[in-house]
Amino acid sequence: MLTIANRLKSALESIHDSALKAGRNPADIQLLAVSKTKPNSAIREAWQAGQRMFGENYVQEGIQKIQELEDLKGVEWHFIGPLQSNKTRVVAEYFDWVQTIERTKIADRLNEQRPSAKAPLQVCIQVNISGEANKSGVLLENVDALAQHINDLPQLNLRGIMTIPSKVDSTDEQMQAFKSMQGILKSLQAVYPQVDTLSMGMSSDVDAAIQCGSTMVRVGTAIFGPRENKT
Ligand SMILES: *Cc1c(COP(=O)(O)O)cnc(C)c1O
Repeated sequence: MLTIANRLKSALESIHDSALKAGRNPADIQLLAVSKTKPNSAIREAWQAGQRMFGENYVQEGIQKIQELEDLKGVEWHFIGPLQSNKTRVVAEYFDWVQTIERTKIADRLNEQRPSAKAPLQVCIQVNISGEANKSGVLLENVDALAQHINDLPQLNLRGIMTIPSKVDSTDEQMQAFKSMQGILKSLQAVYPQVDTLSMGMSSDVDAAIQCGSTMVRVGTAIFGPRENKT
């Protein structure tokens, strides 16, 4: 049986190999371990193996884990699930990052509710790159306006963009989508020098994402094994 430590090591090795293949510095790509639905013991195991960045999708579950794992030093918690406005307060209080901003209203609430004693919340705009109806994220043409709005909020720090590619797309279409994301990142960087994060790539498409400039891959299954119920 492979342990979490073994799988983490292989995930880091694949990132390393993909980076070299793309002519990139492996140190420019971070690994976010997506621990949704997994128990605290699994997160502890990954932490003991050196992992520090964890991603959670569900507010209640995430907050509970952050509280119960307070003894783990140096952890950075990323919220990567859909966020409703009645749940923003605890997210603003407990998480370090929110990668799924898609509305000014949510950005405003997080800004107001982020405790002033804490560092600003690090945020990414979620982009619906395939433009499909009923998919999360803002459409390409609305990214600039939302970025400008976020940039004026003192308790939020705009770090970049994230996307979840559509499952039906072929590999070619996914590469196309990833490349468009890279283009958006560059245009944001020209205006907001602190922007440094292109969050894309999951267990099945880490390599393609890295070829297209991803700086943060979000890996769940390949580290923690398959999930049982919710995905
Ligand atoms: C679940 C999830 C992941 C991880 O997916 P895997 O296929 O298990 O690697 C990454 N990003 C988001 C937003 C997710 O919800």
